[in-house]
Amino acid sequence: MSKGVSARFTGRGKVPPAETPLMRQYLEVKERYADAILMFRLGDFYEMFFEDAVVAARALDLTLTTRDKGRDDAVPMCGVPHHAVKGYVQKLLEAGHKVALCEQLEDPRQAKGIVRRDVTQVVTPGVVLDLDALDAKAPNFLCAVSPAGDGPRAGLAYVDLSTFEFRATEVEGHGALGDELARVAPREVICPEGTRGQIAPALPLGCVAREAPDALFADAGGLCRALGESAENAGLATLPLAARAAAAALGYAQAARPGAELPSCRLVVYRPADHLILDESTVRNLEICETLIGRRRQGSLLGVLDRTVTSMGGRCLRRWLLYPLTDVAKIRRRQDAVERLVEAASLRASLREELDGICDLERLAARAALALSAPRELDQIRRSLERLPRLRALLAADGRGLDELPDALRVGEDSLADVAADVATALREDPALSPKDGAVIRDGYDARLDELRSLSEGGRGEILSIERRERERLGIASLRVGYNRVFGYYLEVSRAKLGSAPLPPEYARKQTIAGAERFVTPELAEHEARVLGAEERRVALEQELFVALRARVAAHALRLRAAAAALASLDAVASLAQVAHGEGYARPIVDDGEATEIVDGRHPVVEQLAARGAFVPNDLRLDPAGEQILVITGPNMAGKSTVMRQAALITLMAQAGSFVPARAARLGLCDRIFTRVGASDDLARGESTFMLEMRETAHILRCATRKSLVVLDEIGRGTATYDGISIAWAVAEYLHDRVGARTLFATHYHELCALADAKPRVRNAHVTVREHKGEVVFLHRLAPGGASRSYGIQVARLAGLPPTVVARAMEILVAMDAGGCLTPSDGTCAGAPAAAGPPTHGAPARAPQLDLFGAQRPSPVEEALRAADPDRMTPFEALALVAELRGKLAPEA
Ligand code: ATP
Repeated sequence: MSKGVSARFTGRGKVPPAETPLMRQYLEVKERYADAILMFRLGDFYEMFFEDAVVAARALDLTLTTRDKGRDDAVPMCGVPHHAVKGYVQKLLEAGHKVALCEQLEDPRQAKGIVRRDVTQVVTPGVVLDLDALDAKAPNFLCAVSPAGDGPRAGLAYVDLSTFEFRATEVEGHGALGDELARVAPREVICPEGTRGQIAPALPLGCVAREAPDALFADAGGLCRALGESAENAGLATLPLAARAAAAALGYAQAARPGAELPSCRLVVYRPADHLILDESTVRNLEICETLIGRRRQGSLLGVLDRTVTSMGGRCLRRWLLYPLTDVAKIRRRQDAVERLVEAASLRASLREELDGICDLERLAARAALALSAPRELDQIRRSLERLPRLRALLAADGRGLDELPDALRVGEDSLADVAADVATALREDPALSPKDGAVIRDGYDARLDELRSLSEGGRGEILSIERRERERLGIASLRVGYNRVFGYYLEVSRAKLGSAPLPPEYARKQTIAGAERFVTPELAEHEARVLGAEERRVALEQELFVALRARVAAHALRLRAAAAALASLDAVASLAQVAHGEGYARPIVDDGEATEIVDGRHPVVEQLAARGAFVPNDLRLDPAGEQILVITGPNMAGKSTVMRQAALITLMAQAGSFVPARAARLGLCDRIFTRVGASDDLARGESTFMLEMRETAHILRCATRKSLVVLDEIGRGTATYDGISIAWAVAEYLHDRVGARTLFATHYHELCALADAKPRVRNAHVTVREHKGEVVFLHRLAPGGASRSYGIQVARLAGLPPTVVARAMEILVAMDAGGCLTPSDGTCAGAPAAAGPPTHGAPARAPQLDLFGAQRPSPVEEALRAADPDRMTPFEALALVAELRGKLAPEA
């Protein structure tokens, strides 16, 4: 959009009509920020000009005006009041724009000539520093992606400027970038010039992507400076693509704060295998952080588990769920912490109460480091820090020694008492919004400030005492001290009293007004020199003292972040313990084995939606050495998806360190969870339901290992029945013969039950129902063996399909059962005799396509035969009829 602005209006092309020093200044700045909407501070407004104005007026619903009314080539402009700029910037970001804020760099009253202006902040969706504009419980990542020129490898690095969380990794293989981006959920992605098309398929929906100059990716020196160490030392020695991405992410973030150095930050380099890998569709399908429909937190796993009381705790828990661990020892340490707080209910309550009073130390520390904190934010830091010793005391009073504390409870080891004390000494409690608005620094902290304060506050008292003294000295009760901007302080004597006593010689006449004369004295002039400007100097000094305090706090940003991280994990652990206690979860045994055993498992979300106690728990056992693949059949609505998803969620929760909704569970560590669940057209990416289903299935077959958990829900249903069955059969076979992954396989194709006879490690299970007076009752209980019937039509009736349609469907079902059915009419399938191979070999052979309407509409041959009257036919006519009928027969296949 704005490239055109610079080309047209920067002096190389058309000269703008408003060619004034101000416009020259504007155009000079605009040229440097051609790709952003430039908000140019003029007095109390931020103004936009030229095409920026046209775009912004449309996006912000502003009136488009001009500075040069009446001229054909007038410059379009629009503006927003400075105090409301945040909201407007937010709207522009939501519309996908980048905004550059150009400020006045000097006081206009003191400026000689045109006020100096320049951009102080560039705001993009990934670089938002305004706390109000951020989701408190989710990170706000800017992500840089650096794809390899010659293959599917890519480096990615992401930074959250509101917390300085900074991570980098490399991914390999098609789809892996998209999977990682789905977990990171960045607000904005940058990539090298010319690569946007290449990475577009991997971008999460709604994520803004921009190309950035290659130089940004190549700026290894800049990365080094920001990290305070070489890329090699930061763990990037063998990850050149990740190093490029990290350099670009920081470079882009730095460009957003021209003139202010970004504070140094710590980079966490990780390998995807360090965590349980969850691909894009699994993150979506398991509804880990938000629901599939409506994308709400409530109704997701996080919605159930998140009882954190601080925002940083909420973000931490979110990360734990998106990045579960793959190291048994680490998992057990987290479980230890959860268990400790499950057992100690009153300690948990006290800890949560203390935590509740703690602010978002992580973001507050980052704002201090960026020199953005306001006085009240430093006050919040102090208040939060002062709670650290109390938290530690609570933990220490728990009976066991602090040394025994699991990692996640090691809060307050560094209580930052020095920082808290510094702020407490310097800053008032509940300080004013800013020094301009009132007192920020404590009395007694700085003698100069105290004097300025007493001058500006006490000036009035001094004047009153001069007034009192002069009244007595001259015996004129009406004498008063006044002030005006022209003469400053004066003594005013009414004309009537002028003759009553001689005025002292130091009284110099200044002004005559109706009924009175005004005088100044050397004493007043001296007072004036001291008092006038005291307020201004107070504001300046108070600001200076505050900025110095902020810088001192900022110097401890790393310690503050470490304390914040400890608090965040304590809060997350306490939240998991709170849920585990409240919902009756159990500590699972996580080991390096390969089996999954769940006793009385429940779905954490569905059980909350069901009436208390109404959820039916189920056992589940999977083991690559024996019960590797479970084929689950059962009517619609029986609970097949629920039982499969709960197995996946229980695995994920266990590896995140949480207790699980089950009576007991033993879980062999998984490396990945795959889900192929339901189907919805991905129209945004131009793929049909079936195409997407097959793409995801291909991905699973390519990537799953013996240590993976695979959940396949109704695979192959998106195409013609026989194609679907064949695909499903072949996929299961492949998983059995080649992969060995623990697999849950729900299907409506009862033919697949025959797999159990063909393959040694396949088992059948079905979700039970009971038929009662023609109605189907769902029992939701998983039992061995295949299901006998589908009950699809009964479920359709329950769903409110018109009775005539239901009745007709029943008729058709009966006809199909009679003429080579697709659904066995009774008996379980497990152990069915003809079950040694796929359906084409043993199961019912492919039936001819039934003419569903055959029963009502006779064929042309039948019609012609019925119309013929043999009694009246000659032999020749009979022969002709035979020929005609033959002609009416459908051609042979
Ligand atoms: P379909 O084949 O139509 O996809 P399904 O067999 O996969 O159906 P689910 O979607 O798992 O069925 O379950 C349907 C509903 O049944 C759930 O939304 C839930 O309300 C209820 N339900 C499932 N399992 C249980 C259970 N174990 N206890 C209580 N209610 C359950």
